[in-house]
Amino acid sequence: MKDYDDKNLPSINKNINTPILIIGGGIAGLMCAYNLKKNNLDFTLVDSKKLASGVSANTTAQITYAHTNLYDDIIKKHGKEKALRYLDSQLDGFNIMKGIIKEENINCDYKEESTIIGAYLQKNMKILDNLQNILNKYNLSKVINSDNNIIFNKKNIEVEKQFIINPIKYMMGIIDILIDNNCKLYENSKVTKINKVNNKYEVIINNKYKINTNKIIMACHYPIINPDNLYFTKIFQSKSYAVAFKSKLKLDANYLSLDEPYYYFRTYDNNTLIIGGSDHYTGISNDINKCYDDLISKIYRIDKDAKIVSKWFTEDCMPIDSLPYVGTYSNNHKNIILITGFQKWGFTNSHIAAKNVTNMLLNRAYDDLYKTHRFTLFRDLKSTFRMIAHSIDGLVLSKLCIKNEDLSTIKIDSGKVVRLNNKNILVYRESKDNYIFLKNKCTHLGCSLIWNDVDKVWESKCHGSIFDKYGKVIYGPAINDLEELF
Ligand SMILES: Cc1cc2nc3c(=O)[nH]c(=O)nc-3n(C[C@H](O)[C@H](O)[C@H](O)COP(=O)(O)OP(=O)(O)OC[C@H]3O[C@@H](n4cnc5c(N)ncnc54)[C@H](O)[C@@H]3O)c2cc1C
Repeated sequence: MKDYDDKNLPSINKNINTPILIIGGGIAGLMCAYNLKKNNLDFTLVDSKKLASGVSANTTAQITYAHTNLYDDIIKKHGKEKALRYLDSQLDGFNIMKGIIKEENINCDYKEESTIIGAYLQKNMKILDNLQNILNKYNLSKVINSDNNIIFNKKNIEVEKQFIINPIKYMMGIIDILIDNNCKLYENSKVTKINKVNNKYEVIINNKYKINTNKIIMACHYPIINPDNLYFTKIFQSKSYAVAFKSKLKLDANYLSLDEPYYYFRTYDNNTLIIGGSDHYTGISNDINKCYDDLISKIYRIDKDAKIVSKWFTEDCMPIDSLPYVGTYSNNHKNIILITGFQKWGFTNSHIAAKNVTNMLLNRAYDDLYKTHRFTLFRDLKSTFRMIAHSIDGLVLSKLCIKNEDLSTIKIDSGKVVRLNNKNILVYRESKDNYIFLKNKCTHLGCSLIWNDVDKVWESKCHGSIFDKYGKVIYGPAINDLEELF
């Protein structure tokens, strides 16, 4: 967040009316705002925190249409024709974004370079072949030598003229344009309730003020109205880790490896590189240290003198049928347009989403590849069963086996789920004698939580909500903080 330029925007402090309300000021919400403004549509945008401070601020921002294993997934789940349509649409998003950076002269450390994607294991070679096959509709990739020492792969393909940016600087550039155009942007204005009144909406901000609106664009990362369209059965969240390190190495491209655990390298600035990866389903009691250590060992493999400067995690929404959602929320909420499910490729996707949303609002034709009304249950049975298993575990099983504990056994600056006074409680030990007690119930759908001792956060076992040690929401879908006890 070192490039974050705080705009000190106001928060909602009275009831207001607006024809269109955008919820969320990450890359998806900001690009919708930008497009709406370009089309002279009046709107208000609210974010629960600072604009551009959610997932989009922690991303690594490799901008490419070569979305690694996604093409293979889409071929398996929807067929080759849809995978080719996905490519066309991602090419569109890529070109729109490139055009905006140029036309608006946004200073975001834009650097054009190749994306190199490789695989070592035989099973992943097939995935690489499928990616290449789709890209070759327009001759967009070529096989290159595998003897570089950045990623050790049997086969690599190069996709030329992709780019990297600094995502915070890009979003700051868009926010400046919106501010210069007198757009109504509000920070620290959390949507705490959405009431449907006839076919319009009364949106409650910070449990206090009302925004009356005809249309809502829900760009707050994960759908927040339940149970409509059962999104919580169709989207899971996947965590991903990143480590920045100082190195004398200069990368001539950004590199992605398809092998497990998945990882990638990119340049950040003149002497800093970033490695990311070690992805896993949020809320499983993975060995988090190992997730970072796996990445760090890869750093030392390419540069034994590297110096680690920072490490962080974030998470993204993964639709089980591998296509994002951009369209009407549900039959019950036709005036809400949902944008979600970018699967770690949010930049090209948010530009396409913004274009589609604007076309929908203007009653123009739009790409229905990302339509929200699709039956996903049988598209990926493995992911579906895994989600069901996590929900059963989070809602029932894990609550049964919590033990009584002596609180003094909890390490300082650490947390534990314990049984106390016959209740399951989250305990964070702040100092020798200071404990924070929280209810072990995610405010999204009631699942239990686990403690992540590396990042010092509570993670929901079901739908990916993450809370800080004091129970404050870091990532949704939970809207409300955990309940503090005693
Ligand atoms: C580790 C990692 C690396 C990635 N790398 C890349 C990459 O190289 N290239 C790429 O294209 N994509 C990448 N992605 C994906 C990309 O970062 C995401 O898809 C994208 O940032 C999601 O944007 P968003 O606007 O949907 O979410 P966010 O940026 O999280 O924005 C949502 C906003 O909504 C707000 N909000 C939430 N709830 C409420 C509420 N109740 N009321 C008001 N506001 C609310 C939040 O505060 C937040 O600001 C990566 C993702 C990860 C996890």
